[in-house]
Amino acid sequence: MDPGVFRSALVLFAHPDDAEFMCGGTVARWVREGCEVHYVCITDGSAGSNELGMTRDKLRPIREREQLAAAEVLGVSSVTFLGEQDGMLEVNQDTRRKVCRQVRRLRPEVMLAPDPSRMWYGDGYINHTDHKRAGELALSAIMPDAPTRLMFPELLDEGLDPYEVPNLYLVVSEPEVFVDITGTIDLKLKALAQHASQLEADEVEPLVRGRASTTGERAGVEYAEGFKAFRFVDED
Ligand SMILES: [Zn+2]
Repeated sequence: MDPGVFRSALVLFAHPDDAEFMCGGTVARWVREGCEVHYVCITDGSAGSNELGMTRDKLRPIREREQLAAAEVLGVSSVTFLGEQDGMLEVNQDTRRKVCRQVRRLRPEVMLAPDPSRMWYGDGYINHTDHKRAGELALSAIMPDAPTRLMFPELLDEGLDPYEVPNLYLVVSEPEVFVDITGTIDLKLKALAQHASQLEADEVEPLVRGRASTTGERAGVEYAEGFKAFRFVDED
């Protein structure tokens, strides 16, 4: 069930804390096994509070600090913030170029990203528009932007040659590939706890354990995270 370890991974996500929710256990496990993991956080997380008196300018550095702390818990090698405005993410030439730049620079063996087709979950949660757009930006980078020489030729001037990402892991609700995170779920929870402006660690723990346990049942382990895995390059 487990595809093994990649040499390098890029996690592309919309907001500080998304990566930990999506795949924090997988990141911790892969890092432990020698994979170099890089984060690219597309927005600044500046809308993540309804507290009276809070402003985007006040929140931005808090979210950035929390994301860096969470990444450190998991052993992530680098975190790049693209600085788009939280809640207003658009898929356009500008954001596609920004994501493409990071993919060509980091040249990961696998990219992890949210499912862009996810409109809602069950009957109690509408998926954030930024999450869908982050997923769409991941797909645009994989095909056609990053591998195509004539897409964003200005990136060639930055020394960023075309690059074909060989593997994509999308975080989907009906996963086909599972990563056993029994040994790293505690690190996932510890990383999530760094996002103190967003969540109460005590409240989030049962939710995270419950979800990972349900996925784990399908995988035949205690806790798991699940993905839809694409492979774009022939084995030979
Ligand atoms: Zn989010």
